[in-house]
Amino acid sequence: MEAPKQDIRALSKEAIQDFFLSHKAPSFKGTQVYQWLWQKGIHDFDLMTNLSFEHRDLLKQYFEIKHINIDLQQRSKDGTIKNAVQLHDNLVVESVLIPTSKRTTACVSSQVGCSLDCTFCATAALKRMRNLNADEIYDQVVAMDQQSKLYFQHPLSNIVFMGMGEPLMNYKNVLEAIDKITHTEGLGMSPKRITLSTSGIPKMIRKMADDQVKFGLAVSLHSARQEVREKIMPFATKFPLSELLEALTHWYTYTKKQITFEYVVWEGINDQKEDIQALVKFCRQIPSKVNLIQYNAIDNSNLKQASSEVIEAYVDALTQARIKVTYRRSRGEDIAAACGQLANKLDTKGKETIKH
Ligand code: SAH
Repeated sequence: MEAPKQDIRALSKEAIQDFFLSHKAPSFKGTQVYQWLWQKGIHDFDLMTNLSFEHRDLLKQYFEIKHINIDLQQRSKDGTIKNAVQLHDNLVVESVLIPTSKRTTACVSSQVGCSLDCTFCATAALKRMRNLNADEIYDQVVAMDQQSKLYFQHPLSNIVFMGMGEPLMNYKNVLEAIDKITHTEGLGMSPKRITLSTSGIPKMIRKMADDQVKFGLAVSLHSARQEVREKIMPFATKFPLSELLEALTHWYTYTKKQITFEYVVWEGINDQKEDIQALVKFCRQIPSKVNLIQYNAIDNSNLKQASSEVIEAYVDALTQARIKVTYRRSRGEDIAAACGQLANKLDTKGKETIKH
């Protein structure tokens, strides 16, 4: 019986070079293969045209190239593109390309489903199936970079880890993917254009600071009152705000990067004066800015966005306290591509879809 083939993308550049050396070929052939795989995003040994046919056959004998397939694209009225990303084991995640007048932002998934239980997020209802591999995360970015060039005539400008899953619960693979995204032998993007969004896992925030990461950090705060936060993000009982603040202080001390707090205001949940005061007090303790996010309704939920008066009260209080605040409009709502709506519904009725 033929031995199972190994996924060549699980190998480091050095390992591929060693493979060639052990087959009496020069190690730079390994460098070339690595560039085809990561810099040029090629998924077929026959397209590696600077390799001899012999070398291509040798690779085919030992390796396969696992990769994602973009199954279906949906385009929103506002230009947002949602991709159904089929993984090699047929599980599906979603990724979203969001254009603005000058930029395109890729919203990337890090897990199939999610291990956390935020009551307002559609992905949470899916439960976690598995972590994505580094190459599955990287491939989403490559695919959206190509889409950005095709549909918006320029490469991807920004990447946010705000798709499905909790990136800090898949730390190793997320970091490996970011390494490839930023490396000159990968996409060569600046880490300054990357933001990792987390629900706030103190231990891992500390670790990121200790690992001296160069990308930005956003935290889904949603309430600066422990008892309120626990109601909407039940896992937060294990990670009290006091610990989160300590971890963020550690992050700032070592990275000198201010933190973005993502915050949705819901009627009857966090729409009182105490809520606003608590947020102002929390932000004063750490260099930060607040991104107020529009709530995107999800199935089976009674949550409702607070009135614009309440949102204005938040903006006023934060501005008075000299804390920077922005309000994020939803994008791609009509195709369930907005924050918190990613749930693999694949409901394409009446929507423009593009087959790859
Ligand atoms: N797990 C990570 C990243 C995924 S969520 C995190 O929690 O940050 C990405 C962003 O969408 C977070 O800011 C999250 O709070 C927000 N979000 C989730 N559900 C939402 C909803 N229904 N409406 C608006 N934003 C939502």
